[in-house]
Amino acid sequence: MLSYEQALSDIEEKLGAANPTPKIESVPLAQAWGRILAEDVKADRDYPPFHRATRDGFAVRSQNVDRAGVVFKLAGEVRAGESFRAPVEEGQCVQIMTGAPLPAGTDAVVMVEYARVQGDQVEMQAPLKPFENVVRQGSEAVKGRQVLPPGRRLGAGEIGLLASVGKACVSVYRKPIVAILPTGDEIVPVDQRPEWYQIRNSNSAMLSALVIAAGAIPMETSIGPDVKEALRRLMLEGLKADLLLLSGGVSMGKYDFVEEVLADLGAEFYFQSVAIRPGKPLVFGRAHDTLFFGLPGNPVSSFVTFELFARPAIRALGGGRFERPQFLRARLGNSVRHKSGLTMFMPARVETQDSEPVVQLVGWQGSGDLVGAAEANCFLVIHPEQRAPQVGDWVDVLPRLS
Ligand code: AMP
Ligand code: MG
Repeated sequence: MLSYEQALSDIEEKLGAANPTPKIESVPLAQAWGRILAEDVKADRDYPPFHRATRDGFAVRSQNVDRAGVVFKLAGEVRAGESFRAPVEEGQCVQIMTGAPLPAGTDAVVMVEYARVQGDQVEMQAPLKPFENVVRQGSEAVKGRQVLPPGRRLGAGEIGLLASVGKACVSVYRKPIVAILPTGDEIVPVDQRPEWYQIRNSNSAMLSALVIAAGAIPMETSIGPDVKEALRRLMLEGLKADLLLLSGGVSMGKYDFVEEVLADLGAEFYFQSVAIRPGKPLVFGRAHDTLFFGLPGNPVSSFVTFELFARPAIRALGGGRFERPQFLRARLGNSVRHKSGLTMFMPARVETQDSEPVVQLVGWQGSGDLVGAAEANCFLVIHPEQRAPQVGDWVDVLPRLS
């Protein structure tokens, strides 16, 4: 069976071949968070634009301060937001505030803590190196240098950078539209009172939230019954989106028709199961030029398979880079039973104990258990080749991002 890593590689390859080129729109910075940059952003001037003082103190020529005890004559002051116009002569210093430009002729700042002022005489109490307490002009970026490449996801730091280079509006890729098609005769809408043998449709709401967090726009279809003709109609609707997520109906049950109906629609299947738990019956393919995932119906399986496979796919469809899920490390806090041959993703909590991250499984009843999974802040990852992980071993965890 296909391994977790191979499944990811297959998805990455198919997305690369599809080479999605989303449309571009311009948004103000206030709406840019989480979007994927669609332009090459360059420094519009040097950063910093001038030699900038990083401390309050006195601007001097460093070569004159080769020892403690050198005395300068105070020639004036320069505040942040000002420039000091007069030339600074030999033996002079200028009081300077953090953020102000160095006066011409000076190259370093003596911190106010290391200066003794008496009238217009300032004694420097420590030697100084060139550009001490100064960030040099252009040291962060020279004018014209690329500071952000297209494809970069805009977080708060990137938005700060865009603002600093004067981009009040920025070109980003249109968000992909992701159709969500829940299936199952037992599934009823959330606002409907279920019979005792019915189950509310929790997957659509959960997957919508995951889609939004992944940077796309969810489009929920109505619930598909386990009836081929109805499924076909809803699939045709869903395949108009940029990606179709189906939930349920991909197992071995007598009424699991999802793959059969997709095949009737001419679908090409890239894989139909992956060696992971939860989530083994995971389907990935293409129909009517749209990629689709058939996610297992169990809510925790849907969640995990979305995070592992659909999230990176959505990122790539939206013009970003395909990024594999990143695991962090923690010490195993309780013993785990492991099904060999599978990569396991178990709802767990990481907490710091004695300055170390320790991961502990949450109590849960299996892949249908949203109550247990809601306690989790990560998934404990056990790889197929890891035989019997012991308490205290370093293990991988997948942080819960959404
Ligand atoms: P299936 O993958 O169709 O065999 O479904 C597996 C389990 O997940 C069953 O117990 C279903 O009732 C449950 N399930 C399927 N779809 C949903 C959904 N949309 N919301 C909540 N539970 C679901
Ligand atoms: Mg079902």
